[in-house]
Amino acid sequence: MAEEKKRPKRPLGHARLIPNKCIACGARCQAECPSDAIEMNDKGEPVINLQKCIGCRRCVRVCPASSLEMFWTPEEQEILDELAKDKAAAAPQAVEVDEEVALVKTMLAQYKGVWVFVEQTEGAAAEVSWELLGAGAELAKALGVELCSIVIGDKVEHLCQESFAYGASKAYLVDDPAYHYYRTEPYYKAIFALITKYKPEIVLVGATGLGRDLAGAVATELGTGLTADCTGLTIDENRLLLQTRPAFGGNIMATIKTERTRPQMSTVRPHVMPLPARKEECQGEIVRERIPLKAGDLLVRILEVHDDRTAGDLDIAGAEFIVSGGRGMQSAENFRILKELASELGGQVAGSRSSVEAGWIPAERQVGQTGKTVRPKIYIACGISGAIQHLVGMQDSDVIIAINRDPSAPIFQVAHYGIVGDVFQVVPAITARIRELRAARQKEPAPECKPGEEQK
Ligand code: FAD
Repeated sequence: MAEEKKRPKRPLGHARLIPNKCIACGARCQAECPSDAIEMNDKGEPVINLQKCIGCRRCVRVCPASSLEMFWTPEEQEILDELAKDKAAAAPQAVEVDEEVALVKTMLAQYKGVWVFVEQTEGAAAEVSWELLGAGAELAKALGVELCSIVIGDKVEHLCQESFAYGASKAYLVDDPAYHYYRTEPYYKAIFALITKYKPEIVLVGATGLGRDLAGAVATELGTGLTADCTGLTIDENRLLLQTRPAFGGNIMATIKTERTRPQMSTVRPHVMPLPARKEECQGEIVRERIPLKAGDLLVRILEVHDDRTAGDLDIAGAEFIVSGGRGMQSAENFRILKELASELGGQVAGSRSSVEAGWIPAERQVGQTGKTVRPKIYIACGISGAIQHLVGMQDSDVIIAINRDPSAPIFQVAHYGIVGDVFQVVPAITARIRELRAARQKEPAPECKPGEEQK
């Protein structure tokens, strides 16, 4: 193999004084020199030691009279000339690079539209799908493109109409008994086929157990980027999707772009995006697709389905009122006062990871980055400091009330109402006041009904 020619290092040159230009400003050049290469003569002019000068140009930049310049020895100049020749020879390569950029641009331009995967079980959609249609509508508007849904299942055409009510203008429907139960292989292959045929530029999937499994498989098959658990989605000036999510243990928010592959894929957890208004009157176009499965596509056979949810199972993610406790609650027993307040409000008790780790509440009640994302009407944080990993799970609640004895606790930065005080005094006082108000209301005489009017 021919030995590759070693490229010489680009010489940096040396500084020198331009005769009769120095104004003896007070040795600024000497003060700036990092290598002690400058001595001052008795006229106050610099004398530069070329052995010591490292060609950093600081003296040239700092001179107020532009009396210093860079120069190169004849040998150094020869090297510079040679490097310039090499650069000219390498120019065609630059053209090749430009061609590659142009090819990528052409490929990207073929992709248009925002798609949302409608997750369903036995024909009932997961609400996160509709939340994503709300977010998708904003993206489609910013891009000036269509918002479409992907509906896959068995007897699921009604979900296309539902997706129109939540903002989609077109639904790609794959309706076949083979898709009755979710299985990774057939579902990802169906979505892969649809994406390859219709080329959407953005695909959004709910970050549920099913969605995470599916989105990862689809992105891998397509060889495109996927950003999981996004908390923010916007479009930049270059029409790229900016996908924001917590990174490095939630200590920073990272914004991720998929620049060279399509589609740009993101998953978003339930309740992170608001549910858009449902408009029954909205109609759209249904595009029916048949994606027949081969024997090899059905590696898993579903024999029986067991629903392990039991009556009374809670979903704090869907609760309208949440009373949440942190390490400040001090014990499992003390959560009793939070349960009382939650029960007065008709809400749920939740907590921070510290409370879960201490064994005071079960893990399914944890709010935050590694717990659930909640968006209740009212979130009452009791003895919770407000670490970023907790805030990402509750900061979009309609009203946040924080009770903490430390006035500088970060939770107060996101709270709409802050109470600096002891939870063991404040919480029972709120519960007692609610009970009082309720009792007073019950004593009030019921308003009289006018004939023909229904009593409220
Ligand atoms: P502390 O930070 O100890 O705060 C206790 C607060 O109670 C203090 O502000 C104190 O002033 C107050 N207090 C004490 N006594 C009283 C009193 N009597 N009255 C009023 N106030 C009182 N955390 C989560 O919550 N959810 C997550 O999903 C999550 N995921 C994480 C993921 C990663 C990768 C990492 C690194 C961390 C995660 N954490 C998560 C942990 C998070 O960083 C914090 O450690 C945790 O949220 C702190 O819980 P806390 O607010 O209950 O406890």
